[in-house]
Order: sequence, then C-alpha cells, then structure tokens
Amino acid sequence: MDTFDALSLREELLSSLATLGYARMTPVQAQSLPAVLAGRDVIAQAQTGSGKTAAFGLGVLQALDVSLVRMQALVLCPTRELADQVSKVLRKLAAAIPNVKVLTLCGGMPLGPQLASLSHDPHIVVGTPGRVQEHLKRGSLHAGAVRTLVLDEADRMLDMGFADAIDDIVKRIAKHHQTLLFSATWPAAIREASTRLQHDPVQVTVQTDEVAAAPAIEQRFIEVEPTRKADALAQLLTRPRGGDDSLQALVFCNMRRDVDAVAHELDQRGFSALALHGDMEQRDREEVLVRFANRSCNVLVATDVAARGLDIAALPLVVSYDVAHDPDTHTHRIGRTGRAGETGLAITLCTPRERPKAANIEQISGEPLAWHPLKLAAAAGKTLQLAPMRTLVIDAGRRDKLRPGDIVGALTGEAGMDGADLGKIDVYATRAYVAIARDQAKQALSRLRSGRIKGRSFRVRALD
Ligand code: AMP
Repeated sequence: MDTFDALSLREELLSSLATLGYARMTPVQAQSLPAVLAGRDVIAQAQTGSGKTAAFGLGVLQALDVSLVRMQALVLCPTRELADQVSKVLRKLAAAIPNVKVLTLCGGMPLGPQLASLSHDPHIVVGTPGRVQEHLKRGSLHAGAVRTLVLDEADRMLDMGFADAIDDIVKRIAKHHQTLLFSATWPAAIREASTRLQHDPVQVTVQTDEVAAAPAIEQRFIEVEPTRKADALAQLLTRPRGGDDSLQALVFCNMRRDVDAVAHELDQRGFSALALHGDMEQRDREEVLVRFANRSCNVLVATDVAARGLDIAALPLVVSYDVAHDPDTHTHRIGRTGRAGETGLAITLCTPRERPKAANIEQISGEPLAWHPLKLAAAAGKTLQLAPMRTLVIDAGRRDKLRPGDIVGALTGEAGMDGADLGKIDVYATRAYVAIARDQAKQALSRLRSGRIKGRSFRVRALD
C-alpha cells in the first residue's frame, strides 16, 4: 500500500495530508518521495494532475527549518498561473507548520511590492525564472541557504527560452543543493539540462515498462491516382486518428517543386501548412522551423534533404506524398514518427506507376506492405486544419537585450493576458518570435503594438 505513513514525514505534514484527504500516494509521489526525502536529485516525468506539486512540496517542507529566516527552497515555474497554483498547494501542505513564509515572485508584476515583501527573507520562493534572476542580481533575494531547487514544468520553461536565466540562477544559489526536475516530456534539451544541473539523479517515469518500450510505427500504403493525391492527403490530415488535436504532420515529397505546390494546395484548403526545402533563405527556413515547433503550423511539407537536419521531436503522423526513390530514404521518413510509448503512423501514397518502388521497399523490408483503401467519405466532425497557435514577430532580439521574460511580462503584466495563452518564445539576435493561442493573437498583437516592451516600442507583426 502506498500510504504516506511509511515515509516518516514530520507530524505536521501528516496532519496536513489528513486534512487534505490524501490517503495514498499517487504513482509519481510513491516513486519520487523516498529519493526526494533522502536528498537525492530527481528527474521525474510528470504531468499536471499527477500530484507532482506535493511530491516536491513535501520534500521541501520536510527539510525546512522555520527558525532559519532564509530562503531554503526555490521553485521555478514557467508562468504566473502555475506559480500561484504551486504556492497555494505549498501553503496548504505547510498549514500545520507555524510561520512558514512562501513568496511568489513573477514577471509582469510591479517590482515595488515584491521588494517590500522581500524586506524579510521568505523560506520558500516560487517564481518565474526571469524575475527571480532579477531579484538575485539586485541583491533583493539571497540564495546562500537554498537547499532545494525545483524546476517545475521544465520543458515549458526551456520552450519559453528561460534556459539562460535558469543557468544563471543555479550559479547564484548555494553550491550544494538538491535539484528536482519535473517535466511532462523528455526531449534532448531536458536531458541535457539534467546532465548540466543535476548530480546522479534518480529517474522517475510513471509509465509502465511496457508503454515506455521502443516506439511502434504502423505503416500503411494507399493506392491513389495521381490526380487524387491532393484530395487524399487533405483527407488524411483532416481526420488523422479519430481527432487528436495535437496533430502535427510531416509530409515528404520527392521533388522541391512539389513541396511548394502541396504546401500551397493545403494552405488553400485552410490548413496551417508550410514548405521547407533547400532553396530557401536561411531566415525563411528559421521562421518555418520556429512556427512548426511553436505549434502555429500543423503540417510541414519537406524534401528529404531539407528534413535531414531537422531537430524536431517525433511526430504522430508522417506522410510520403510520393513513394521514396529508395528503401533507405523511406526508412528515414518513417523514422520521423513513433514517439516512445505511442504508436506513430506512417502513410505512403502510391500511384499505380509507383508500384515498382513500393515493391522494392517490400522486398528489402522482408514484410508484406499493408495496403489500405482510402475512404473518400466526406469527413464528418471536427477538422484539424488550423494550428492552435499563431506566431508574432518582434523586430528586436538579443542585441536589444530582449529576453523571453520581457515579452512574457509585456503580455501578461498590465496587458492582462493569461500566461496559459502564451506558447514558445524564441529570441534570436535581431528578432523574437512568440506563439500565442490563435484566438488571442489579434489582441496580443495590438497590445504589443500599443504598449511597450522594456520601456521601448518595437515593430511587431503576425506571421501568416
Ligand atoms: P498536481 O499534479 O500537483 O497539480 O496535483 C493534481 C491534483 O491532485 C491536485 O488537486 C492535488 O490536490 C491532488 N493530489 C495530489 N496528491 C494527492 C494524493 N496523494 N491523493 C489525492 N489527491 C492528491
């Protein structure tokens, strides 16, 4: 039984848990708490709703010395909403321990009141990386006694461009500290951050071994007449897998000119689709990749060469618009789908004339190809043509000392946007891209145009 009793938590915490009605540990708690309480570094794959806040919260509070009026734990979160939520949970868990001071420090809020509440050191600070970094630099926050650093939703923090701020914060806190990293996903950037920031971490994944096993790829071949290819593609993209709205797909064409034509065709049909091929200027290529990564483009149409160096996570759906010329290329294409624990779908459209190339693939793979009919039934239900986000470009970047936090601040501060509507932020030397929830993008654009970022006004436009 995964009860909390086995953990020898302090009395006050057991009493708070009883008040909250937490009888048993969630899987993330059961797997991470022993290591957290033993002072080990932990990297845990955990989503909102998994009970991760209590997993690190109990660890932080167990070790807390209330009589020491210094910051002993620092929790970094991507957004103000999450920071507020985490603070609330920490206060509830700490309810039975007298005089625990938890302070929230987020960007986009005026500095004055924060400076005032920092006149006495809090025990625990929960905040966004940019603002916490600023307080540490100013000396308004003292980090010499931090025993535990928590990176909550670390993948989102990296997506929002907070990597530098986090690294700088780590340099400023006590050398010997415990680092607890929680992240819904584990892309390469997270694993690198863990290697850089953690010491011999205990890894926690709540998936069973079975689910976390090697990615499975389902392959389907569909025979279509050349004139029906565009229709077939549009249909495949419209209802890919029963309406998963996290759909993003990569479509391969053999020829560069088809890449443009197919992207254009999809665009005409209302898809958020973009083309990627070797003829593009570096800057246009960068923009396309930013938009695909930040979810303001759903479908990337590419040549094999252009896709080769792509640093994108595996996708749920890969489509070969043409059968690849050789089996090796085909294998590379389908390897772009299939995420750990989820089945990827690789669909190949094949005209009668392309049959010999398909037969070649079949021969090399040693397995019969799975042919499926394309049901050209009118797609009912919701379509997934439009990407969930839109991208705004700000004509300012690192050279203007613009940081992701400044953009978050300009949008969520006085402008009043909800941090949940903000997506990935990419700051380059002279430009910055920010993804905004599609239905909020217009408002965000006019706010950024009329308002100021770091006290200055910059040119801002939407990419469509
Ligand atoms: P979190 O993933 O930290 O956002 O937590 C998700 C929800 O689960 C919150 O509403 C918590 O109050 C609740 N919760 C966390 N741990 C437990 C537990 N051991 N038993 C019951 N509820 C819990």
